[in-house]
Amino acid sequence: MTDQPAACFNCGNQDKQLPLVHVQYKGEQFYVCPGCMPSLIHRSESVADKIEAAYAEKTAGNG
Ligand SMILES: [Zn+2]
Repeated sequence: MTDQPAACFNCGNQDKQLPLVHVQYKGEQFYVCPGCMPSLIHRSESVADKIEAAYAEKTAGNG
């Protein structure tokens, strides 16, 4: 089990820099920072590739 620091899936900001919000995607837990939340809410298609990539990376080692 990897113990990575919590980081925004979109820009990589970590929780030592900014408060992060927990989000769930395809059953996996991710974090998003306040700066990226507007994109997630209003232009979710613009961050879809990023969270899909984060999902692929997160699940790659779980097989
Ligand atoms: Zn961010």
